[in-house]
Amino acid sequence: MIAYCDLAGLVRGRSVPAATFDDRIRSGVGWVPANQAICCFGPLAEPNPWGSVGDRRLLPDPATRVQVDLWEGVSPLDFVLSDAVHTDGAPWDACPRTFLRHALDDLRAETGLRLMASFEHEFVLDARDGPIEGPFTLAAQRVAEPFAGDVMAALRQAGADPEMILPEYGPNQWEVLVRPTEGIGAADRAAVVKEVVREVARRLGRRASFSPLPDPDGIGNGVHVHISLLDDEGRNALYDAVQPGALSQLGGAFAAGMLRHLPALLAFTAPSAISYLRLTPHRWSAGTGALGYRNRECAVRICPVAELAGGDLSRQFNIESRAMDGTASPHLALALLVRAGLAGIRGKLETPLLLDRDPNELSAGELAAFGARPLPADLESALAAVEEDAFLRGWLPDDLWDCYRSLKATELAEVRDLTPAEACARYAEVI
Ligand code: GLU
Ligand code: MG
Repeated sequence: MIAYCDLAGLVRGRSVPAATFDDRIRSGVGWVPANQAICCFGPLAEPNPWGSVGDRRLLPDPATRVQVDLWEGVSPLDFVLSDAVHTDGAPWDACPRTFLRHALDDLRAETGLRLMASFEHEFVLDARDGPIEGPFTLAAQRVAEPFAGDVMAALRQAGADPEMILPEYGPNQWEVLVRPTEGIGAADRAAVVKEVVREVARRLGRRASFSPLPDPDGIGNGVHVHISLLDDEGRNALYDAVQPGALSQLGGAFAAGMLRHLPALLAFTAPSAISYLRLTPHRWSAGTGALGYRNRECAVRICPVAELAGGDLSRQFNIESRAMDGTASPHLALALLVRAGLAGIRGKLETPLLLDRDPNELSAGELAAFGARPLPADLESALAAVEEDAFLRGWLPDDLWDCYRSLKATELAEVRDLTPAEACARYAEVI
């Protein structure tokens, strides 16, 4: 499949004979611009900026080709990610991968820095008969075999550089980590991880869901994005051993930028009707818009380094954006995180006071000292925050924003009359 990871975070595309792939690298395959407006539940949002008019091409980036051939009696999983471009090959600014490339180019031009990132995914496998083994147990891993081993093998074949897999805290919940990689490759890898995990589950007759909340009272599935910024010598510009939390002034400004724009960013990082049920206290899911020092209740967290691993600690050092989930487009979300961080650097924002305690035990006044503001309580409020955030709104091409707004209105309409439990079940069917 010549594939495209779209605004709904789903991978869609068109398949060609593998033997013709080399030709397709040059010419791509046809694509309809209004496909950009298809929401995660299927319906195409109307109105959208294109309607029935216009044509695009999906132009594959051969470096992203995934070929996983682990199974008998089924064709290999073989797909490549693309940019959506105009028919003459000119970039289309409503393409999320192109939008990310522009954000990374601006970061590099203004600061000389390159982004390294990795997306950490949580997901659930569908329930099976029999007892549910405990969180993190060897038993939980073994009862699902060959799932974990196949995920690691498949990710390795896919070139996604797997680092770890574990049975997580929730029933049938898992987490998978891949190594950081540069720029667009990090968002590509996020799309690949989801597809590969889904395929491994499918081959075992199961289903993997990355929906943010399988049920309203249950445990959330987060996507945590680990970020560092490297200069031309490969030094991590976020690290400064003498600063609080070892976060450099530049790193503090980047984090402050992400927090300043957080209400509007949430419309892209936590972009479903049920995302906001996950972003509530005591879920370790970042319900508080503050900079946490080794603190999992904060939207941005300074991650721990392991001194015992030895070597240069700056190489491990990273900050993590936690208020994301599997309904996001990884390319669009990462692009806006980068733009928000870059705005923080540009504005020389001060490093926020590091929050090292449970924010839910602090008064509103104490929280304010940490710069923590109330966050949007639902997707409608987050979308409204985009309109109120002139900077963030200005980063979005008009077509992209008009399409996105309409797409989200269609998605919200699909679940409007459902109870929270029904809405969670509905998302779990598609994400
Ligand atoms: N499941 C939590 C979330 O929704 C994250 C737990 C963790 O820190 O791994 O983000
Ligand atoms: Mg986790």
